[in-house]
Amino acid sequence: MSSSSDVIVIGGGIVGIACAHYLAKEGYGVTVIDQATIGAGCSHANCGFVCPSHVLPLNEPGAIGDGIRSLLNPSAAFRIKPQLRPNLYRWLFQFARRCTHRKMLESGANLLPLLESSIVEYRTLDSELRSAGEWKENGLLYVFRSEAGLDKFAHTDGLLTENYGVSARRIDGADLPEFDSALKHGLAGGFFYQDDASVRPDKLIRNWSTHLAEAGVRFVEHCQLEGVHRSGTHISELHTSTGTMTAQQYVIATGAWSGELSAQLNCRLPIEPGKGYSVTMSRPERCPEHPMLFPEHRVGVTPFEDSYRIGSMMEFAGFDTTIPARRIRQLRDSAAPYLEATTATATEETWYGWRPMTWDSLPVVGRIRGLDNALVATGHNMLGLTLAPATGRLIAELASGQPTHIGIDAFSPNRF
Ligand SMILES: Cc1cc2nc3c(=O)[nH]c(=O)nc-3n(C[C@H](O)[C@H](O)[C@H](O)COP(=O)(O)OP(=O)(O)OC[C@H]3O[C@@H](n4cnc5c(N)ncnc54)[C@H](O)[C@@H]3O)c2cc1C
Repeated sequence: MSSSSDVIVIGGGIVGIACAHYLAKEGYGVTVIDQATIGAGCSHANCGFVCPSHVLPLNEPGAIGDGIRSLLNPSAAFRIKPQLRPNLYRWLFQFARRCTHRKMLESGANLLPLLESSIVEYRTLDSELRSAGEWKENGLLYVFRSEAGLDKFAHTDGLLTENYGVSARRIDGADLPEFDSALKHGLAGGFFYQDDASVRPDKLIRNWSTHLAEAGVRFVEHCQLEGVHRSGTHISELHTSTGTMTAQQYVIATGAWSGELSAQLNCRLPIEPGKGYSVTMSRPERCPEHPMLFPEHRVGVTPFEDSYRIGSMMEFAGFDTTIPARRIRQLRDSAAPYLEATTATATEETWYGWRPMTWDSLPVVGRIRGLDNALVATGHNMLGLTLAPATGRLIAELASGQPTHIGIDAFSPNRF
C-alpha cells in the first residue's frame, strides 16, 4: 500500500485523536495510523479524570524517600522491576534530581496553562460527543482516613491556592457521607476540587473517532510505523508494516512507545512506560456519585453510567504485559476502607496501561530540531486524557505556522 495525506498522525490514543481533531478543523486531510486498534493503548481504561487540579508534578521533595520505602514493601503501589537497562537508571537519576521544592513549583507553573486550556477545549467539543463519552463536570474529591494524611494534604492544597489559584472546598469527615453517600462514616475529611471533570475514556475515544471518520479523517489500524526515510531536514516517507506512506507533515503521538522511535527521528525522547492497572465493575448499590482519590492508598475511583472503576499503581517494569491477580485484589482492597459500597461486584474488565513517563513530569509537544516536518505530541505522564485537547490545538497551530495559544518552551522535544 502506498498513500498520501496532508498530515499523518502516528498513534491513535487520546492524544493522537485530539491532534487529528484540531488538524482536521484547520482544514488538513488527516490520516491516523495505529499499530493496534484505535484507543487500545493507555487511553483505554484509565481513571477518566479530567483534572486541572493536578498541577503539581510527581517530582516533589520526599518522592525519593517514598520511592525507596516502597521498594521494601511488596504491596506498595510503586514498584521498580530490577532490569539491565541503563536507560531506566538514567531516567530515575534525572527524575530524582528534579525532586526539589523549586523545581516542583516551576513544573507546576509550566503545566498550569496547558491544564487550563484543556478544560476550556473540552467544553468546546460538540456536546453530543461529550455526553456520549459520559462527560460530567462533577469535580474530584480527595478523601483521607487519617488526620495526619489530611493535614499533610492541607499543606499541598495551600500551595496550589497560593501559587496557582487552584482551590478546593474542605469537607469535614463527619460531613463526607452526606456529601457522597458511598463514603463510610469515620473518615478524617476531604478536599473537593469542583472544577475537575470526568469522562469514560473508551466511550469518548470510540465516539470521537467515529465523529472524525464521518468528517473525513482516515483511520488505519494494525499499521505499525517501522522506520522513516529522511531527505535532508525532511521526513520523505514512512515505512510501515502495511507499506510506505507519505504526507507533508507527521505527528508522533505514540505514547509510551515514543522512546523506541527516538533513534529513527534522530532525537532523544527519554520516555519510560509507567504501568498502571484498573478494574471495572458493575455498579454496586450506593455507588460513588463523584470521582474520588484516596491518596493514602494511592487509588482512584470513578463512577460511570453503568459501572465503576478503581485504578492505580506505578510500575517501572518495561513493557510488561501481565495482570497479576494480586494487583487487582489490591486495587479492590485499597478502596474498601473508604466505601460503604462493595468493591467486589462483578468484574467487567481488568486492564493495564503504560503511561508515557518523562523524567521532568512534563509532556513533549513541539517540533524536532533538524526535522522541519515532524511534530511530537507525547510524554503526557499521568495526565494524557486531561491534556489531550490543548495538545491537539497546539499541534494544529504549529503545523499551520500560527503562534501557539500558550507558551511551549518547557515542553520542547529538544530539552533532553
Ligand atoms: C491506571 C491509569 C490511570 C490513569 N488515569 C488518568 C486519568 O484519570 N486522567 C488522565 O488525564 N490520565 C490518566 N492516565 C494517563 C493516561 O492514560 C495517559 O497519559 C494517556 O492515555 C496517554 O495517551 P497517548 O495517546 O499518549 O498514549 P496511548 O493511549 O498509549 O496511545 C499511543 C498509541 O500509539 C500507538 N503506537 C505506538 N507505537 C506505534 C508505532 N510504531 N506505529 C503505530 N502506532 C503506534 C499505540 O498502539 C497506541 O494506540 C492514567 C493511566 C493509567 C495507566
